Amino acid sequence: METNRANNLIELEDKFGAHNYHPLPVVLTKGEGVFVWDVDGKKYFDFLSAYSAVNQGHCHPRITKALIDQAKTLALTSRAFYNDCLGEYEKYVTNLFGFDKVLPMNTGAEAVETAIKLCRKWAYEKKGIAENQAVIVVCDGNFHGRTTTIISFSTDPDSNKNFGPYAPGFLAIPYDDIPALEKALKLPNVVGFLVEPIQGEAGVYTPSDDFISKARLLCTENGALFIADEVQTGIGRTGSLLAVCGNCNCEQNCERQKNTYNRPDILILGKALSGGVYPVSAVLADDEIMLVIKPGQHGSTFGGNPIAAKVAIAALEAVNDENLIQNARKLGAFFRSEMNRIISKSDLVLKVRGKGLLNAIVVNDSETGKTAWNLCLALKENGLLAKPTHGNIIRFAPPLIITKEQITECIQIIEKTINSFKK
Ligand SMILES: *Cc1c(COP(=O)(O)O)cnc(C)c1O
Repeated sequence: METNRANNLIELEDKFGAHNYHPLPVVLTKGEGVFVWDVDGKKYFDFLSAYSAVNQGHCHPRITKALIDQAKTLALTSRAFYNDCLGEYEKYVTNLFGFDKVLPMNTGAEAVETAIKLCRKWAYEKKGIAENQAVIVVCDGNFHGRTTTIISFSTDPDSNKNFGPYAPGFLAIPYDDIPALEKALKLPNVVGFLVEPIQGEAGVYTPSDDFISKARLLCTENGALFIADEVQTGIGRTGSLLAVCGNCNCEQNCERQKNTYNRPDILILGKALSGGVYPVSAVLADDEIMLVIKPGQHGSTFGGNPIAAKVAIAALEAVNDENLIQNARKLGAFFRSEMNRIISKSDLVLKVRGKGLLNAIVVNDSETGKTAWNLCLALKENGLLAKPTHGNIIRFAPPLIITKEQITECIQIIEKTINSFKK
């Protein structure tokens, strides 16, 4: 139960903050690794990881050190001048992901906006599309952020109702529907396909195994750019460096040679790119696309700042050095098999789906519509924090540093909670 202290802090947010979130009633004050603590000292497993921003675990020493050291040295220059951190980061990140160039931004939504601008400019200047006619194909159930343009092509009424007028130039097709994509790509003025390799916010919708590779191929055949939004799925979360890598079986030191995987034309990263300590996002592409943007045509005051550059290198090195990709793959498979065992003995949970350590259970709540929320409250009492997404779905996404022993304890908490739960 919440104490007075916690309740006061909740009331404070309620009174003075906009009501654009509906948090679980827990007030956190400290984090370390896979754990967070509330203001009354109760310890929890974090099974959300700030929507997969904290893949490397809370307050990772190496990332925190990079942040503090650089903050004391030089925090921000703007891009009006060069700084001595950005180039090194740009070399590191382009090399790691196998692209010619990177354009640094701060939030995921900004990076998606950047990718849209890049795709359109490329279409007009390289593909000869008539001005203002470019169309980008997107998917039903998409989540790409909260800007006015991005919510214009959301299909979730919560995201876009009464926020219009909407930006034109987008066409939504069903997710995981190759015939629909093929049809859409043949329409006039279609220049790109923007897609999440797994739809995170929509409820961890995991497409057919060959969806991404077929989509990649269809974009190539039809002269459209394949734009992967890996803000949530990227950087080890799904058991490969990128979710578009799929089951290529590359190990952590894979050189990411060009065209050896379902390589997007434009790759969008965010969230875990900083390990959650700082807003860092990035758009990667090769020269023939990236260089259509010339000086003065796009930018951001904070994008590519020295702290972001140092933090991102540390965050990516941590993923590599600590074998987080392999850990996510291995423990993800274990977690889903254990969930399936629990599901086989319970009628409260219908199914589990996901990849690596990005998973969700679908709760059977046809009666009240509140079961997933109440189950999350019960999980909280038992020491595990997770959040429902889209009604009856609960996402389970612990930091990728979680050990077999810890995840086993979490599975026991989930099992105990499900078995003792009364709707
Ligand atoms: C979280 C998310 C975004 C938006 O990132 P912000 O940093 O919140 O703007 C975009 N795309 C996907 C797939 C996301 O999960």
